[in-house]
Amino acid sequence: MARKNIALETSLVVAVVIAAFVMQSVISQTQPPSLPDSVKEEAVVDFTDDGEEEVVVSEVEEESSILIPAKYDVNLADLGVEPNWLELDDYQYTMSKEEFQHLLTKVFTVGDYWEKWFSFEEEQVVIRTHAADEDREYRLAFKNDVVEKQPSSYWKGRDSFIEMNESSPLLGIKIAIDPGHIGGSYAQLEERQFVLAEGAPPIQEGNMTLTVASLLVEQLENLGASVTLLRVKNEPVNPFRPDDYLGYAKSKLEQKNAVLSGATLEREAAKLFYRNGEIRARALLVNEKIKPDLVLCIHFNAGAQPDPENPILLEDEHFHMILNGAYTEGEVAHDDERFKMVLKIVQGVHQEEVGLAKAAAVSFAAEAELPPYQYSANSSRAVNVADNPYLWARNLLANRLYDCPVVFYEPYLMNGKDSYTRMQVGDYSGLRYINQRLRPSIYQEYVTAVTKGLVDYYTSKGSEELEGK
Ligand SMILES: [Zn+2]
Repeated sequence: MARKNIALETSLVVAVVIAAFVMQSVISQTQPPSLPDSVKEEAVVDFTDDGEEEVVVSEVEEESSILIPAKYDVNLADLGVEPNWLELDDYQYTMSKEEFQHLLTKVFTVGDYWEKWFSFEEEQVVIRTHAADEDREYRLAFKNDVVEKQPSSYWKGRDSFIEMNESSPLLGIKIAIDPGHIGGSYAQLEERQFVLAEGAPPIQEGNMTLTVASLLVEQLENLGASVTLLRVKNEPVNPFRPDDYLGYAKSKLEQKNAVLSGATLEREAAKLFYRNGEIRARALLVNEKIKPDLVLCIHFNAGAQPDPENPILLEDEHFHMILNGAYTEGEVAHDDERFKMVLKIVQGVHQEEVGLAKAAAVSFAAEAELPPYQYSANSSRAVNVADNPYLWARNLLANRLYDCPVVFYEPYLMNGKDSYTRMQVGDYSGLRYINQRLRPSIYQEYVTAVTKGLVDYYTSKGSEELEGK
């Protein structure tokens, strides 16, 4: 009896702590989704300095900040920082050996190279934590008949939303929308702009994804979801600019024995800015402030030009969705990427992504009437998922760094014959006659497809066994 009381008191204390934590996150969400300006000052990295000082991402109590590491580290992804493997302590005894093994070997890697880093024992998996030190390891115990714990994460899967509301099928679901790329004056720098011929209006992916995302917010909120946009204008979320990455770029090119010139440095710094630093800034928003149940990454695709100097419009358009997985040999060898991969596995992210992406793909294929895109059968960076022609696992920065289920939408070709015309026409309400067909705007069609897929997924819960196990 006495023991029971202690247990009760303990759970009360835990409940109070959780409640305080929830309140804290509610309060922090009311702050605008921006990064503190003060970090800019700390970002100045003097690359003539050979000191050992290392700048890392710090988790400050009130505001999280993002910093640029002083030096490139060959054992980490670009701009990566050393992970804290002890974060996996929360996942001891949460997953069976069979499930871990299946996800690691069939979804998250494409080949045998995982064997260099993971060794399976009867009751645990031993993970090498440091590429630079063979002896350092982390042991993760599998759940068994005696000990089984629930994994912890800030996101909730579909099955957690038990209450179904007739008019608000997405009630209580916290969704973050990531309008892919930056757009606007950055479209050319980030190579997400298509210009058919001199003088033709440019098609900028970052502008179009923001149009879709803005329309989606209203639509999903009408259905009960609470929705946050990762950006609301065609400007970077990242507080840094290309020049801020010059020191890190120099360190990287030096360590890789690459050609070091003004031009190569500038190019490397620009890439680090828009391709990497930008996503890292968004990841900070997702993981520290918004903590959503899922992130929708909105994109438009483009096809390879036979002759880039003389761009043409392509006939065959397609659609596919990307989930996290298919880490390459080099990516698994990075300590931070290997850590995130394990975190994805033990959090059960894949199972949630598969369920959602399946429903989303059915809906998109029906609305947009686009055939599936096919990666090469021997691809080392893409794995087909759940025998669904539209679903592909790839290790992209956003779906790796956002610590929750993430689905990428990759429909329409910016240089596709049909879509190009629709993109030029822009957004409109109702139907118009375009390319011999009566149809909604390409943006409205996108929004309808995404919305229907989400509603289908969240209203059909419990009726099907989630695949991917
Ligand atoms: Zn894109």
